[in-house]
Amino acid sequence: MIKDLKRKTALVTGAGKKAGIGYAIARKLAAAGADVVLADLIGKQTRQNTPVTASLDQISALAADLAKTFKIEAAALELDVTASDSVAQLAQKVQQQFGPIHIVCNNAGAVFGVPSALHTYDEGAWLKTIDVNLHGVFRVSKALVPLMTEGGCIVNVASRAAKVAPLFNGAYAVAKAGVVMLTRVMAKELAGAGIRVNAICPGVIQTDFTDWRFELEADILDATVEDRQAEMLKTIPMGRLGTPEEVADLVVFLVSDQSAYMTGQAINITGGQLMEI
Ligand code: NAD
Repeated sequence: MIKDLKRKTALVTGAGKKAGIGYAIARKLAAAGADVVLADLIGKQTRQNTPVTASLDQISALAADLAKTFKIEAAALELDVTASDSVAQLAQKVQQQFGPIHIVCNNAGAVFGVPSALHTYDEGAWLKTIDVNLHGVFRVSKALVPLMTEGGCIVNVASRAAKVAPLFNGAYAVAKAGVVMLTRVMAKELAGAGIRVNAICPGVIQTDFTDWRFELEADILDATVEDRQAEMLKTIPMGRLGTPEEVADLVVFLVSDQSAYMTGQAINITGGQLMEI
């Protein structure tokens, strides 16, 4: 187990849901010894027919639990990656509380609107989806790189959809493909400053996001959720969905010295669903 993240400070966006990938990443970083900041949207809806996101008290309780369990510093901060003022406030608070930051994981993501072909895609939903998933990574990185004065690592959470065109989910796919290129650009620009930048491309991971997607597909195709899951599993050589903890293990590797010579990569974690690119 990687344990070399002591005296490092890590910020994870979209980390306020206990069942989500972001929280699993924050937890594994804390287990490896890093101080962690859980940043997330507070009390807003990120998809149709889903509950609003957690309250700051709920996220603070998650942070307090990590601090107690792993004997590290942990904080919960409000963040809307689509609002520059919110991102600026986050950077200011992080600097005040922790000083330099060493690890940034851009994990926040959302999908707006309903699945539809590009020529019928609702324009507002298209723009909002790209704003959260792509421009959000730009805003947070722009605000936090100046705090990475001691060097460090950035991991951007892209998706398998960045590399293989999905049907009827164009805005998300285009945004995540943009995240992969943004990762490469930043990796080149920041290598001289001792900052490595990599992306990860998860396949289908068991979170609320995936439950929502199966339910939506079942509704649209007049099928059952179980049918949709079974169809999906046929496309995954390992025959199961991934877990948030497995994704988090990859992130910990990418921010540790074990991956010291890797930058500008977009690593698949898909149970073999994606092998060629
Ligand atoms: P999730 O919906 O459980 O979590 C997403 C998190 O992002 C939530 O905590 C949400 O509050 C936060 N968020 C949304 N909009 C935000 C905003 N404007 N500002 C700040 N935070 C915001 O989803 P998840 O499955 O845990 O996904 C995490 C990341 O992994 C996302 O980027 C997603 O696109 C990506 N991903 C997920 C899967 C999967 O199968 N679950 C596959 C590939 C990629």
